[in-house]
Amino acid sequence: MEPLHTALGAIKVLRCSVGQVFSCLANGVRADHGEEGRDAKFLSELDELLSSVTQHLRDVEQAVNSLSQPPGPFTLGNTSFLSQECTQERQALYSQLVLSYKWTDKIHEFSNLSVALLSQNSLKRSYTNSSTAKRRRAPTSSHNVPPQNVDTVISSIDRQFPDMNISVSRPFGANAVLQVTLSRVLQAVVALKGLMIEWVVVKGYGETLDLWSESRHKVFRKITENSHAAMLHFSSPTMPELAVRSFMTWLHSFNTLFSDPCKRCGNHLHSALPPTWRDFRSLEPFHEECKH
Ligand SMILES: [Zn+2]
Repeated sequence: MEPLHTALGAIKVLRCSVGQVFSCLANGVRADHGEEGRDAKFLSELDELLSSVTQHLRDVEQAVNSLSQPPGPFTLGNTSFLSQECTQERQALYSQLVLSYKWTDKIHEFSNLSVALLSQNSLKRSYTNSSTAKRRRAPTSSHNVPPQNVDTVISSIDRQFPDMNISVSRPFGANAVLQVTLSRVLQAVVALKGLMIEWVVVKGYGETLDLWSESRHKVFRKITENSHAAMLHFSSPTMPELAVRSFMTWLHSFNTLFSDPCKRCGNHLHSALPPTWRDFRSLEPFHEECKH
């Protein structure tokens, strides 16, 4: 590339000095040549310019001689067809194309430089971020827990609440589906993925229990909705067992659904519904309208 640049530079210089010759000829004898022997002065100036042209021509020849023959035709891909374009306004495409090639080259160069700079500069923040993410990701296998571990957790929760009966089935292979019966108040179906709660449906006692249909009763549809909020609230990838335990404790607190009054208004019914909300921490009952 370097000799080519030198050659192009030499051509530029040659063109410049040839231009000077012609401009000198065009101007002819000027006032600054004075009165005395102005023809001789003019001729000597021209002679000087011509000899510099000869000198520069020699430079060009030298530079061209040092160039090596390109190994073959340049592969320009489809762009070579642009030279066959005969519509005037489209001929400008080629120079635009060359410009964009230059831009891409520059971007390439700059990005290489910045990669080198950035790799020296060990951006601490993002590195710690990515490492904590990695550390967190390791126990995030809450969805990939062996079935016997799930069974152990569930049966310990089942023993914890005598009035809540939990039975485990696995209709979809490895993942457990819990059928929960809470005294004679409600029943629920909880779909797990490993130890992660994926879906909850709450229905009335005696309703057919499945994952896809909702309860006939507004009160249980409301509790289903709230249990989705609870499922998300308690969800913890790092402590999946605690998440399930907390959720089941929260669900268990509905055993007083039809007996406990609202913590705020003190009434049993509001808009013809019992307190369908349970506080995540205190498990206190509230009506939907009273929880805020
Ligand atoms: Zn209330």
